[in-house]
Amino acid sequence: MTPKPDCYWPIFLEVFEALPRQGPGSRECAARALALGPALPAEPRIADLGCGSGGQTLQLAELLPHSTIDALDSHAPLLERLKAGALAKSLQHRIRVHRGDMDAPPFADQSFDLIWSEGAVYNLGVTHALRRWRPLLRPGGWIAFTEAVWLRGDPPPAARAFWEAEYPRMADVPANLAIITEAGFETLGHFPLPAEAWWSDFYRPLEARVGVLKKEYAGDPAAQTALSLIQHEVDIHRRYGEYYSYAFFVVRPR
Ligand code: SAM
Repeated sequence: MTPKPDCYWPIFLEVFEALPRQGPGSRECAARALALGPALPAEPRIADLGCGSGGQTLQLAELLPHSTIDALDSHAPLLERLKAGALAKSLQHRIRVHRGDMDAPPFADQSFDLIWSEGAVYNLGVTHALRRWRPLLRPGGWIAFTEAVWLRGDPPPAARAFWEAEYPRMADVPANLAIITEAGFETLGHFPLPAEAWWSDFYRPLEARVGVLKKEYAGDPAAQTALSLIQHEVDIHRRYGEYYSYAFFVVRPR
Protein backbone atom coordinates (compact mmCIF):
# COMPACT_ATOMS: atom_id res chain seq x y z
CA MET A 1 0.00 0.00 0.00
CA THR A 2 2.99 2.35 0.53
CA PRO A 3 4.69 3.58 -2.66
CA LYS A 4 7.56 1.26 -3.56
CA PRO A 5 10.68 2.14 -5.57
CA ASP A 6 9.97 1.75 -9.30
CA CYS A 7 12.50 -1.06 -9.71
CA TYR A 8 10.42 -3.27 -7.36
CA TRP A 9 7.16 -3.00 -9.31
CA PRO A 10 7.87 -5.60 -12.01
CA ILE A 11 8.50 -8.18 -9.29
CA PHE A 12 5.45 -7.14 -7.26
CA LEU A 13 3.33 -7.53 -10.38
CA GLU A 14 4.92 -10.87 -11.24
CA VAL A 15 4.03 -12.13 -7.77
CA PHE A 16 0.54 -10.68 -7.32
CA GLU A 17 -0.80 -11.09 -10.85
CA ALA A 18 -0.41 -14.87 -10.61
CA LEU A 19 -2.39 -15.35 -7.37
CA PRO A 20 -5.98 -16.62 -7.05
CA ARG A 21 -6.72 -13.28 -5.42
CA GLN A 22 -4.77 -10.15 -4.51
CA GLY A 23 -6.04 -9.78 -0.96
CA PRO A 24 -7.61 -11.88 1.80
CA GLY A 25 -11.13 -13.26 1.39
CA SER A 26 -13.04 -16.45 0.70
CA ARG A 27 -16.22 -17.81 -0.80
CA GLU A 28 -17.57 -18.51 2.71
CA CYS A 29 -17.02 -14.88 3.74
CA ALA A 30 -18.66 -13.62 0.55
CA ALA A 31 -21.69 -15.83 1.24
CA ARG A 32 -21.83 -14.60 4.84
CA ALA A 33 -21.69 -10.95 3.73
CA LEU A 34 -24.40 -11.55 1.12
CA ALA A 35 -26.65 -12.99 3.83
CA LEU A 36 -26.29 -9.79 5.90
CA GLY A 37 -27.83 -7.60 3.21
CA PRO A 38 -31.50 -7.19 2.23
CA ALA A 39 -32.90 -9.58 -0.38
CA LEU A 40 -31.75 -8.76 -3.89
CA PRO A 41 -34.02 -8.64 -6.94
CA ALA A 42 -34.39 -11.82 -8.99
CA GLU A 43 -31.78 -10.67 -11.51
CA PRO A 44 -29.52 -8.33 -9.57
CA ARG A 45 -27.02 -6.05 -11.24
CA ILE A 46 -23.77 -5.87 -9.32
CA ALA A 47 -20.58 -3.80 -9.55
CA ASP A 48 -17.32 -5.30 -8.25
CA LEU A 49 -14.95 -2.34 -7.86
CA GLY A 50 -11.21 -3.01 -7.59
CA CYS A 51 -11.91 -6.58 -8.70
CA GLY A 52 -8.27 -7.59 -9.30
CA SER A 53 -8.06 -10.94 -11.08
CA GLY A 54 -11.65 -11.55 -10.02
CA GLY A 55 -11.42 -14.34 -7.43
CA GLN A 56 -14.43 -12.89 -5.63
CA THR A 57 -16.17 -11.86 -8.88
CA LEU A 58 -16.37 -15.49 -9.96
CA GLN A 59 -17.55 -16.55 -6.50
CA LEU A 60 -20.27 -13.87 -6.51
CA ALA A 61 -21.42 -14.95 -9.96
CA GLU A 62 -21.75 -18.52 -8.68
CA LEU A 63 -23.42 -17.51 -5.43
CA LEU A 64 -25.95 -15.35 -7.32
CA PRO A 65 -26.64 -17.38 -10.46
CA HIS A 66 -29.05 -14.83 -12.01
CA SER A 67 -26.82 -11.82 -11.46
CA THR A 68 -24.91 -9.69 -13.95
CA ILE A 69 -21.62 -8.29 -12.67
CA ASP A 70 -19.68 -5.27 -13.94
CA ALA A 71 -16.13 -5.84 -12.68
CA LEU A 72 -13.77 -2.88 -12.72
CA ASP A 73 -10.06 -2.55 -12.07
CA SER A 74 -7.31 -0.22 -13.22
CA HIS A 75 -4.76 -2.96 -13.96
CA ALA A 76 -5.29 -4.57 -17.37
CA PRO A 77 -3.37 -7.88 -16.85
CA LEU A 78 -5.59 -8.72 -13.86
CA LEU A 79 -8.66 -8.12 -15.98
CA GLU A 80 -7.31 -10.49 -18.64
CA ARG A 81 -7.08 -13.16 -15.95
CA LEU A 82 -10.66 -12.47 -14.89
CA LYS A 83 -11.83 -12.76 -18.49
CA ALA A 84 -10.06 -16.12 -18.81
CA GLY A 85 -11.50 -17.30 -15.48
CA ALA A 86 -15.02 -16.31 -16.51
CA LEU A 87 -14.63 -18.10 -19.81
CA ALA A 88 -13.33 -21.25 -18.11
CA LYS A 89 -16.45 -21.30 -15.91
CA SER A 90 -18.81 -20.29 -18.74
CA LEU A 91 -19.65 -17.09 -16.84
CA GLN A 92 -18.52 -14.70 -19.57
CA HIS A 93 -22.11 -13.69 -20.41
CA ARG A 94 -22.76 -12.51 -16.86
CA ILE A 95 -19.42 -10.81 -16.10
CA ARG A 96 -18.52 -7.62 -17.94
CA VAL A 97 -14.98 -6.46 -17.46
CA HIS A 98 -14.02 -2.76 -17.40
CA ARG A 99 -10.65 -1.11 -17.13
CA GLY A 100 -11.20 2.09 -15.19
CA ASP A 101 -10.90 4.13 -12.04
CA MET A 102 -12.99 3.19 -9.02
CA ASP A 103 -12.88 6.89 -8.09
CA ALA A 104 -14.77 7.71 -11.29
CA PRO A 105 -16.62 4.51 -12.21
CA PRO A 106 -17.92 4.65 -15.80
CA PHE A 107 -21.48 3.71 -14.92
CA ALA A 108 -24.76 5.66 -14.95
CA ASP A 109 -26.36 6.68 -11.66
CA GLN A 110 -28.78 4.11 -10.17
CA SER A 111 -27.23 1.22 -12.11
CA PHE A 112 -26.66 -1.30 -9.31
CA ASP A 113 -28.54 -3.29 -6.67
CA LEU A 114 -25.24 -4.17 -4.98
CA ILE A 115 -21.76 -2.67 -5.01
CA TRP A 116 -19.05 -5.08 -3.91
CA SER A 117 -15.44 -4.22 -3.14
CA GLU A 118 -12.97 -6.55 -1.43
CA GLY A 119 -9.58 -5.27 -0.36
CA ALA A 120 -9.73 -2.17 -2.53
CA VAL A 121 -11.61 0.56 -0.64
CA TYR A 122 -8.32 1.62 0.97
CA ASN A 123 -7.40 3.13 -2.40
CA LEU A 124 -10.02 5.83 -1.83
CA GLY A 125 -10.72 5.68 1.91
CA VAL A 126 -14.06 4.51 3.31
CA THR A 127 -15.72 7.94 3.48
CA HIS A 128 -14.73 8.93 -0.03
CA ALA A 129 -15.65 5.55 -1.54
CA LEU A 130 -19.10 5.48 0.06
CA ARG A 131 -19.92 9.03 -0.98
CA ARG A 132 -18.57 8.45 -4.49
CA TRP A 133 -20.46 5.19 -5.05
CA ARG A 134 -23.78 6.09 -3.43
CA PRO A 135 -25.29 7.64 -6.62
CA LEU A 136 -24.64 4.35 -8.46
CA LEU A 137 -27.09 2.47 -6.22
CA ARG A 138 -30.64 1.80 -7.27
CA PRO A 139 -33.32 2.46 -4.63
CA GLY A 140 -32.97 -0.30 -2.01
CA GLY A 141 -29.38 -0.99 -3.12
CA TRP A 142 -26.53 -1.68 -0.72
CA ILE A 143 -22.75 -1.94 -0.52
CA ALA A 144 -20.51 -4.72 0.83
CA PHE A 145 -16.81 -4.02 1.26
CA THR A 146 -13.79 -5.21 3.20
CA GLU A 147 -11.37 -2.90 4.94
CA ALA A 148 -8.21 -3.52 6.96
CA VAL A 149 -8.93 -3.07 10.69
CA TRP A 150 -7.14 -3.28 13.99
CA LEU A 151 -8.71 -6.07 16.07
CA ARG A 152 -6.86 -5.19 19.27
CA GLY A 153 -5.75 -1.90 20.72
CA ASP A 154 -2.38 -3.17 21.91
CA PRO A 155 -0.49 -4.27 18.79
CA PRO A 156 3.20 -5.02 19.34
CA PRO A 157 5.54 -2.30 18.00
CA ALA A 158 6.58 -4.38 14.96
CA ALA A 159 2.97 -4.83 13.83
CA ARG A 160 2.11 -1.20 14.49
CA ALA A 161 5.21 0.03 12.64
CA PHE A 162 4.48 -2.18 9.63
CA TRP A 163 0.89 -0.96 9.25
CA GLU A 164 1.70 2.63 10.06
CA ALA A 165 4.07 2.54 7.09
CA GLU A 166 1.70 0.57 4.83
CA TYR A 167 -1.69 2.03 5.71
CA PRO A 168 -1.57 4.80 8.31
CA ARG A 169 -5.35 5.33 8.04
CA MET A 170 -6.06 1.81 9.33
CA ALA A 171 -8.62 2.06 12.17
CA ASP A 172 -10.50 -0.33 14.42
CA VAL A 173 -14.06 -1.59 13.84
CA PRO A 174 -15.86 1.01 16.05
CA ALA A 175 -14.01 3.83 14.26
CA ASN A 176 -15.06 2.39 10.89
CA LEU A 177 -18.67 2.12 12.06
CA ALA A 178 -18.54 5.80 13.03
CA ILE A 179 -17.04 6.68 9.63
CA ILE A 180 -19.84 4.76 7.88
CA THR A 181 -22.52 6.61 9.90
CA GLU A 182 -20.82 9.93 9.25
CA ALA A 183 -20.86 9.17 5.49
CA GLY A 184 -24.66 8.82 5.65
CA PHE A 185 -24.91 5.02 5.72
CA GLU A 186 -26.43 2.42 8.05
CA THR A 187 -24.38 -0.68 8.88
CA LEU A 188 -26.44 -3.85 8.42
CA GLY A 189 -23.72 -6.16 9.66
CA HIS A 190 -19.99 -6.66 9.90
CA PHE A 191 -17.50 -9.38 10.78
CA PRO A 192 -13.73 -9.84 10.72
CA LEU A 193 -12.31 -12.20 8.12
CA PRO A 194 -11.16 -15.44 9.78
CA ALA A 195 -7.48 -16.44 9.69
CA GLU A 196 -8.04 -18.98 6.92
CA ALA A 197 -9.30 -16.24 4.58
CA TRP A 198 -5.75 -14.81 4.62
CA TRP A 199 -4.05 -18.09 3.87
CA SER A 200 -5.93 -20.35 1.47
CA ASP A 201 -6.15 -18.16 -1.64
CA PHE A 202 -3.72 -15.40 -0.68
CA TYR A 203 -0.71 -15.85 1.61
CA ARG A 204 -0.09 -19.57 0.92
CA PRO A 205 0.06 -19.12 -2.86
CA LEU A 206 1.92 -15.83 -2.31
CA GLU A 207 4.65 -17.53 -0.28
CA ALA A 208 4.93 -20.31 -2.85
CA ARG A 209 5.32 -17.73 -5.62
CA VAL A 210 7.96 -15.80 -3.65
CA GLY A 211 9.90 -19.06 -3.19
CA VAL A 212 9.87 -19.80 -6.92
CA LEU A 213 10.89 -16.27 -7.90
CA LYS A 214 13.66 -16.10 -5.27
CA LYS A 215 15.37 -18.94 -7.16
CA GLU A 216 14.57 -17.50 -10.59
CA TYR A 217 16.03 -14.08 -9.66
CA ALA A 218 18.98 -15.45 -7.66
CA GLY A 219 21.46 -12.94 -9.12
CA ASP A 220 19.21 -9.87 -9.00
CA PRO A 221 19.57 -7.85 -5.77
CA ALA A 222 16.63 -5.50 -6.46
CA ALA A 223 14.34 -8.46 -7.14
CA GLN A 224 15.57 -10.19 -3.98
CA THR A 225 14.82 -7.07 -1.90
CA ALA A 226 11.35 -6.76 -3.42
CA LEU A 227 10.63 -10.44 -2.72
CA SER A 228 11.88 -10.08 0.86
CA LEU A 229 9.54 -7.12 1.39
CA ILE A 230 6.63 -9.24 0.22
CA GLN A 231 7.70 -12.13 2.46
CA HIS A 232 7.99 -9.67 5.36
CA GLU A 233 4.27 -8.84 5.05
CA VAL A 234 3.45 -12.54 5.35
CA ASP A 235 5.82 -12.97 8.29
CA ILE A 236 4.21 -10.05 10.10
CA HIS A 237 0.83 -11.64 9.63
CA ARG A 238 2.02 -15.05 10.77
CA ARG A 239 3.28 -13.50 14.00
CA TYR A 240 0.75 -10.79 14.67
CA GLY A 241 -2.37 -11.79 12.70
CA GLU A 242 -4.48 -11.81 15.86
CA TYR A 243 -4.04 -8.02 16.13
CA TYR A 244 -5.48 -7.06 12.74
CA SER A 245 -7.51 -8.41 9.87
CA TYR A 246 -9.82 -7.23 7.19
CA ALA A 247 -13.47 -6.87 8.12
CA PHE A 248 -16.54 -7.10 5.92
CA PHE A 249 -18.98 -4.22 6.28
CA VAL A 250 -22.45 -4.42 4.76
CA VAL A 251 -24.06 -0.99 4.54
CA ARG A 252 -26.92 0.90 2.90
CA PRO A 253 -27.71 4.59 2.50
CA ARG A 254 -29.72 6.13 5.32
N1 SAM B 1 -10.66 -7.42 -5.01
C1 SAM B 1 -9.47 -8.16 -5.37
C2 SAM B 1 -9.22 -9.25 -4.35
O1 SAM B 1 -9.70 -9.15 -3.21
O2 SAM B 1 -8.52 -10.20 -4.70
C3 SAM B 1 -8.24 -7.25 -5.53
C4 SAM B 1 -7.76 -6.56 -4.29
S1 SAM B 1 -6.20 -5.73 -4.54
C5 SAM B 1 -5.59 -5.62 -2.89
C6 SAM B 1 -6.68 -4.04 -4.88
C7 SAM B 1 -7.08 -3.82 -6.34
O3 SAM B 1 -7.45 -2.46 -6.52
C8 SAM B 1 -5.96 -4.09 -7.34
O4 SAM B 1 -6.40 -5.03 -8.28
C9 SAM B 1 -5.69 -2.73 -7.99
O5 SAM B 1 -5.32 -2.85 -9.36
C10 SAM B 1 -7.04 -2.07 -7.82
N2 SAM B 1 -7.00 -0.60 -7.85
C11 SAM B 1 -6.16 0.24 -7.19
N3 SAM B 1 -6.50 1.52 -7.43
C12 SAM B 1 -7.57 1.47 -8.27
C13 SAM B 1 -8.38 2.47 -8.88
N4 SAM B 1 -8.18 3.77 -8.65
N5 SAM B 1 -9.39 2.09 -9.69
C14 SAM B 1 -9.62 0.77 -9.92
N6 SAM B 1 -8.90 -0.22 -9.37
C15 SAM B 1 -7.89 0.13 -8.55
